[in-house]
Amino acid sequence: MSAAEPQVATHCPYCALQCGTRLTGARGAVQVRPDADFPVNRGGLCQKGWTAPALLDVRDRLRTPLVRGADGDLHPTDWDTALDTVAAGLRRIRAAHGPDAVGVFGGGGLTNEKAYQLGKFARLALGTSQIDYNGRFCMSSAAAAGIAAFGLDRGLPFPVTDLGRAETVLLAGANPAETMPPLMRHLERARLIVVDPRRTRTAERAAVHLQPAPGTDLALALGLLHLAVVEGRTDTGYLRTRTTGFTEAWQRAAAWTPDRVERLTGVPVAEQREAVRLLADADRAYVLTGRGAEQQSKGSDTVAAFINLALALGLPGREGSGYGCLTGQGNGQGGREHGQKADQLPGYRSITDPAARAHVAGVWGVTPEELPGPGRSAYELLDALGRDVKALLVFGSNPAVSAPRAGHVTDRLAALDLLVVADFVPSETARMADVVLPVTQWAEEEGTLTNLEGRVLRRRRLLAPPAGVRGDLDVLHGLAVRLGRRADHFPTAPETVFEELRRASRGGAADYSGIDYTRLDAGEALHWPCPEPGHPGTPRLFLDRFAHPDGRARLAAVDHRDAAELPDGQRPLYATTGRVLAHYQSGAQTRRIPELAAAAPEPFVEVHPDTAARAGLGEGDLADVSSARGTVRARVRLTGSLRTDTVFLPFHFPGDGRANLITNPALDPRSRMPEFKVSAVRIAPAEPA
Ligand code: SF4
Repeated sequence: MSAAEPQVATHCPYCALQCGTRLTGARGAVQVRPDADFPVNRGGLCQKGWTAPALLDVRDRLRTPLVRGADGDLHPTDWDTALDTVAAGLRRIRAAHGPDAVGVFGGGGLTNEKAYQLGKFARLALGTSQIDYNGRFCMSSAAAAGIAAFGLDRGLPFPVTDLGRAETVLLAGANPAETMPPLMRHLERARLIVVDPRRTRTAERAAVHLQPAPGTDLALALGLLHLAVVEGRTDTGYLRTRTTGFTEAWQRAAAWTPDRVERLTGVPVAEQREAVRLLADADRAYVLTGRGAEQQSKGSDTVAAFINLALALGLPGREGSGYGCLTGQGNGQGGREHGQKADQLPGYRSITDPAARAHVAGVWGVTPEELPGPGRSAYELLDALGRDVKALLVFGSNPAVSAPRAGHVTDRLAALDLLVVADFVPSETARMADVVLPVTQWAEEEGTLTNLEGRVLRRRRLLAPPAGVRGDLDVLHGLAVRLGRRADHFPTAPETVFEELRRASRGGAADYSGIDYTRLDAGEALHWPCPEPGHPGTPRLFLDRFAHPDGRARLAAVDHRDAAELPDGQRPLYATTGRVLAHYQSGAQTRRIPELAAAAPEPFVEVHPDTAARAGLGEGDLADVSSARGTVRARVRLTGSLRTDTVFLPFHFPGDGRANLITNPALDPRSRMPEFKVSAVRIAPAEPA
């Protein structure tokens, strides 16, 4: 690096760990280094982080707006024409069908400023209640369970670095060795208990690997609580002074004897006992959940059962121990706090709370009556497309690949009168759009994100955007003005938006009032809540009290129920889905990076050799995996790491390799999370095309 070369400290564009990076160089020659001083990654990056500069100049980067012409093709145009087209379409649809005929679909990778402005744009400029985002598919079950248990939801209510002193960590449905490898550095000293139907890379490092059948981990968690109680391993003083609800929770867990749990889940009694012993004997222990536990039609109850276990052992709210959720997307935490969720307003407030509505309406300069009420959850919104929702604006998401029952969702997207997509690559959803708006990406923009530990981070700009590309805040400004809103109500400078976000969050659960760019740029580590200037932030929550009015955590009276569908004679196997190291989310970004595409080039299905032999399949064969909703075509990988009743598919691939063609949109009644993790399927050699 020459002395004159620009350098910025920023963060990786991908996952919720938000590894610190240093960027140098000019467009086409950007270099990335891990930030040795950032405590979360301590000088480490995964393959995705190392190759992130290539994302800035991928071959088919969008550099000009596109509008679909009468010939059915997308054609380049100028920004005024594109925005005029969108605004005219929105006005026409609103006039004919009302404001709720327009939907907005956001993303957990958007900066805090974009997420905030998108929620404000939907509710003020469009007047619609129909806004939700892809984080619904990511963290909503953990959020619902966390709020019920603790009165507040923050992924990790402690710094990541606290994990480094843990003696035992239970990971339920999380595979950080592949999804966020630098996190494993913090787990090196801990004995790991991994709950996963697959023997993942994380499970390979576990002291105990509990391998339940998909959809039975709730029963397993109840069984672990049962063992902790009958073996006298619970923290009775903690339960008495810091919690309520134990009696009711125990009434459900009492029936889940170790033998019964083994019969349902397949997890041997001895392994259940060993897991409880390791957790209970540790002075410092954590229970962490991930998407495996959460992405089920009973995901919020499954997480609640693991929280019950943690509470019974006295872990949450004790320094050096605790419960947390490993958030997935880059701004999975901040994305859920600032108002792009169907049922929330900024500050992580409920949209049905009159006081919250009055506060946010005051910041926005409107009356509470002008704010729409709650909208549909993400899948329900997508399912309504082309019926009562006629137009959809998508920012930072690719639901044609990432939504459950993806074939149906693609049909619904195609049935819209107007589909508008803002993205920086032509994702599968963007290719279906009537108007495509090319926007900036990470190293081209300023803003903030909030990582999985509730720490607010600065994203900084190294490069000017390519000619023809605009920031998302500029896009929202341009549309809002065309829809008759005041220009100064939709500012384009990220810091100005953040200042308004601070005011809107004041007094809410996620209170950012005391955080500003100056403090962040000075290097302060600020975890919300940070309710006033000069406040040091709150790296550790719940040390004295939980956030319920009585200060106590709540155990939940939850019980096992079956997945929405189970294997049968027609579809005798479980299918479950997940990620691989090389790819992120729908793969729209990482599939375009040559090194990552080479590492994981095509859809595959992991199958146990015995299962494959019964189906007449061998290593490398093309297989059709079929559920009641569709068929995925993928190449067979034989592995003994799976149960014989289960196949596994990564969800990063497009076309007929989309794992979500088979996934089940059965929703959790509280969180509205779809059942991505459990489908009943059959597998067979691929039919000739
Ligand atoms: Fe770190 Fe996640 Fe980026 Fe990998 S993808 S470098 S783990 S932030």
